[in-house]
Amino acid sequence: MQNRIHHARLQSRRPLANQTVEYIFAHQEPELTFRPGQFLSMRVGEDADGNAALRSYSIASSPEQRGELRLVLRILEDGVGSRFFASLQTGDEVTFTGPMGFFVNDLSHPGDVVYVATGTGIAPIWPMLLETLARPETGRVELFWGLRHEEDLFWQAELASLTTKNPRLTTHIYLSQPRGFWRERGRIVPPVIEQLPSLQRPTFYLCGNGQMIEECKAALLSRGVERKRQIRTEAFFD
Ligand SMILES: Cc1cc2nc3c(=O)[nH]c(=O)nc-3n(C[C@H](O)[C@H](O)[C@H](O)COP(=O)(O)OP(=O)(O)OC[C@H]3O[C@@H](n4cnc5c(N)ncnc54)[C@H](O)[C@@H]3O)c2cc1C
Repeated sequence: MQNRIHHARLQSRRPLANQTVEYIFAHQEPELTFRPGQFLSMRVGEDADGNAALRSYSIASSPEQRGELRLVLRILEDGVGSRFFASLQTGDEVTFTGPMGFFVNDLSHPGDVVYVATGTGIAPIWPMLLETLARPETGRVELFWGLRHEEDLFWQAELASLTTKNPRLTTHIYLSQPRGFWRERGRIVPPVIEQLPSLQRPTFYLCGNGQMIEECKAALLSRGVERKRQIRTEAFFD
């Protein structure tokens, strides 16, 4: 149920990549029912007047993992939420409301599915991807994931394993500024657009930085993709 106050305790945390940390929370009461792709509004402190400081975080775990909640965060140097998460100790309690949001799979859509993420924008897309791959449809599933450098990469083994088990999934990991040799280099939007003519009735799910989302959406719309029926977005920041 939305806007109910939930409590959870930090069970573990694990650095995944440069400035990127996975947090696992144990969550019991009240039970959190959500769709893959939704987010929570977390209390990360309070302002000078005592009002709650809130930040949104996508749920990176699947609904089937009952009692366990995974978040994947980019920890920024000076952010209010980042400072809160950086200081959390195992066993500490967090308070949040949710689930929220409409960035969820369109289950009535039988065509190809294209996920486009930058950075921690992969967080909601991971459970959405699992949901799509567990369904009986046979369409192609494409994941385009853009990061900056090699040290920003994570979940590579998990993705490779998912791709091996699901022949209809293809993953494209792009680095915009690789330090060494990397085959898929450059920004994420051009290869997404290049793929368009080969896709059958695709739905696009775009998540991450707002600039990528606006650019990708504009390019898709200018090529006849329908805004309402075929594009869903979740911008983490401008
Ligand atoms: C619906 C929704 C879901 C979100 N889910 C996630 C999630 O799963 N994981 C996650 O890491 N973040 C997520 N965010 C972003 C998150 O809510 C915070 O904005 C972010 O963590 C920064 O908060 P902060 O308090 O640390 O920094 P702030 O003090 O709020 O922000 C500092 C500055 O950093 C910029 N910024 C914010 N996020 C990033 C980023 N990832 N990389 C670079 N610059 C950034 C902002 O534009 C801002 O100017 C989500 C945002 C929304 C709206």
